[in-house]
Amino acid sequence: MNTAYLLAEAKDRLRKKPPPRLIRRIPAPRLPRTIDALLKGVSRIVPAVYEYMYEEPLQDAFVRWRLRLDENAYAQICDAVDKSLGVSQYGEEALPNPRGNWLHRQLLDLASAAGLAGLTSREMAQFFQYLCPCGVEHSRETIKKFRQRRAMVPSAR
Ligand SMILES: [Zn+2]
Repeated sequence: MNTAYLLAEAKDRLRKKPPPRLIRRIPAPRLPRTIDALLKGVSRIVPAVYEYMYEEPLQDAFVRWRLRLDENAYAQICDAVDKSLGVSQYGEEALPNPRGNWLHRQLLDLASAAGLAGLTSREMAQFFQYLCPCGVEHSRETIKKFRQRRAMVPSAR
C-alpha cells in the first residue's frame, strides 16, 4: 500500500463524496519484450508518478516548459520519467518517499476533510504528533508555519 493512496482514500471517506482525485492508481507493472514496449509502458505511468511527486497534472508542467515559464519544468518531467522507469520494473516500491512538505500538506487536507480545520495550533500539533511519521517535532509554531505555507498555495485542495 502506498501513502498517497491511503491518504486519498481517507480524505474520500471523510468527505463522504468522491472528489476529483489528484493521485491516480499506477497500473501494475508488466515485463516488456522490446524497447518500444518498455517506453509505451512507462509513458502510461509517467502522469500518475508526476502527480504523486509534484502534486499537479503532468500537462501543467508541459505548459510551463513550452511557454518557458519555469526552468525546472523539464527537469521535473525527466525526474518523473526516470522514477517511472523504476516503477514500471519494480512497482510502487520504486517511488521516492513522500517529501516532508508533501506529507504535511496531505495531513492538513486530511484534518480539513475531517472537519478539524478549526483546531487551534496547539491541538493541530497534537494531531500531527499522533499521525505524522516524519520524525520532526510538531510544535505550535511549526503548525503555524505549515498553515501559513498552505494558505499561500493557490491551488490548495
Ligand atoms: Zn511531520
